[in-house]
Amino acid sequence: LERTLSMIKPDAVSKQLTGTILQRFESAKFTIVAAKMMQLTKEQAEGFYAEHEGREFYEPLVEFMTSGPTMLLVLQGENIIPAYRELIGKTDPTQAAPGTIRADFAESTRYNAVHGSDSPESAAREIAYFFVDDEIC
Ligand code: ATP
Repeated sequence: LERTLSMIKPDAVSKQLTGTILQRFESAKFTIVAAKMMQLTKEQAEGFYAEHEGREFYEPLVEFMTSGPTMLLVLQGENIIPAYRELIGKTDPTQAAPGTIRADFAESTRYNAVHGSDSPESAAREIAYFFVDDEIC
């Protein structure tokens, strides 16, 4: 079984969509193996998105991601990395397939409700970035 790091971003948390989004994860048969609320510090957000440093959207992204609480999750399931990305839809919600989380709840490419790891290597890095082993069931 594979694991992915999921985030319910500050836009979705502030709109009280956390429960609705968790329901979609569970309906997809993903198992929640870790969860916590955290308001990211500037340092945490910058480090998490370090690969995007220097891009025009990087600073506003860090600002957005530190603007309120985020729900951090580790989800587990078969082939969950691609399955999860399919469930959330494309980064730009206007390109996201109907019925995906971003098509339904994202308001723009920046304020796009959720994050998911894009490969087993980034999942391992991202999970370790936010969780220690004994926080994961
Ligand atoms: P995530 O990593 O959050 O799942 P992703 O893999 O779909 O998203 P990335 O290309 O890694 O997208 O970008 C990380 C995040 O940066 C996006 O989810 C979005 O919030 C923001 N972002 C990316 N591109 C843009 C852009 N062109 N304009 C504004 N924000 C952007």
